[in-house]
Amino acid sequence: HRFPVVIVGAGPAGLTLGNLLRAASVECVVLETESREFIERRPRAGVLEEWAVRALERHGLAGNLLERAERHTACEFRFAGERYRFPYGELTGRHHFVYPQPLLVTDLVREYADVRGGDIRFGVRDVRLHDVDTDRPSVSYTSPETGERQVLACEFVAGCDGARGVTRAALPPGSARVSRHDYGIGWLALLAEAPPSADCVLFGCHPRGFAGQMPRSPEVTRYYLQCPPGDDPENWPYDRVWKELRSRLGAAGAAPLAEGPLIEKRVLDMHDYVVEPMASGRLYLAGDAAHLVAPIAAKGMNLALHDAFLLADALTGCLVRGDGRALDGYSAASLRRVWDYQEFSQWLSEVYHGAATGDAFRAGTTVARLRRLFTSPVAATAFAEQYLGTAERY
Ligand code: FAD
Repeated sequence: HRFPVVIVGAGPAGLTLGNLLRAASVECVVLETESREFIERRPRAGVLEEWAVRALERHGLAGNLLERAERHTACEFRFAGERYRFPYGELTGRHHFVYPQPLLVTDLVREYADVRGGDIRFGVRDVRLHDVDTDRPSVSYTSPETGERQVLACEFVAGCDGARGVTRAALPPGSARVSRHDYGIGWLALLAEAPPSADCVLFGCHPRGFAGQMPRSPEVTRYYLQCPPGDDPENWPYDRVWKELRSRLGAAGAAPLAEGPLIEKRVLDMHDYVVEPMASGRLYLAGDAAHLVAPIAAKGMNLALHDAFLLADALTGCLVRGDGRALDGYSAASLRRVWDYQEFSQWLSEVYHGAATGDAFRAGTTVARLRRLFTSPVAATAFAEQYLGTAERY
């Protein structure tokens, strides 16, 4: 048997792709190293752009999301001891949806496996790709039940296995360029069992370093604290975390932070990369497997979904209608949005981190960037558009 598509990885990219292929009657199989319980609980992103939600909705994948997600129409910058609310919804008529990634993944797995009867294999080990530069590729793995190697012959492989997967390394040597950007900054990513401290996202641009607050649900709130790259989360006990958050997010007239136990504490070394092109032979990468964007502007999951929509259209075009043009253009179409978001994340990174560089010149230009958002309507609208993500249909 030859599967039209083998999808490696059951994150937002792989599961959305799987659902769209099922809906188009393209047979596929999803391979995932973790268990279903694990991926349904893994906390990560939470901010979805409106165009992405509308696209999920068009494919019947946004039922729970539209019922349960919060709408966000503003964010707030805090700097020099003051609060500056930025009402991007008023400027654009658009908004964000806040829906924790594990809930989206849960919805997508349920729809794919339980509703649409899709084939998904959890707990697979040692996934390997073979002959992707021929027209008879295959994917092999060790079955968790039998311990035996299984080989899946296929037409196409979709590499959706995230930043730490194996598919990127299966691109034939020399076929793709990987460009990388290191910020030289760490972020302590925290989840607190506490209600949000404000009704919107908070960005604290402080000489001691950046701090952020992102509401996730009435019970859980994400916080970020800039720290040295490679810092040990154990250096950040409860009291130090909350003292630092209070100081960096403190502003005149702001309500005190709602404290609570820290249920996740990880240090992220902030970096980006982009693989170009995102395909070689019969292997097509999507999501974090092809491009990582540091969580500065909450773009990663949105890009993963964008790829899934594009790749599903392209594979369907080729496999159902015999038209390979969209597949040929897939990488270039994805990369336009990827580079746009990378550029915005870099710009925003300077706003977040400039004040803490110890460099008076960069601190000065950072404040100029911030003030421009609140004094120039044109600058404000441009920022709002980028923050919300380009609305053009994928
Ligand atoms: P993943 O979600 O990483 O999924 C890949 C899947 O492949 C995983 O299930 C993995 O277990 C599996 N896998 C790995 N290796 C293999 C293998 N060899 N074989 C088979 N399966 C394998 N993005 C936003 O848009 N907004 C945010 O607010 C945001 N916040 C973030 C906060 C944090 C702390 C982090 C870490 C990320 C954040 N992101 C955010 C980024 C977002 O989480 C990722 O961009 C998104 O998960 C990418 O989806 P994906 O499907 O490409 O990859």
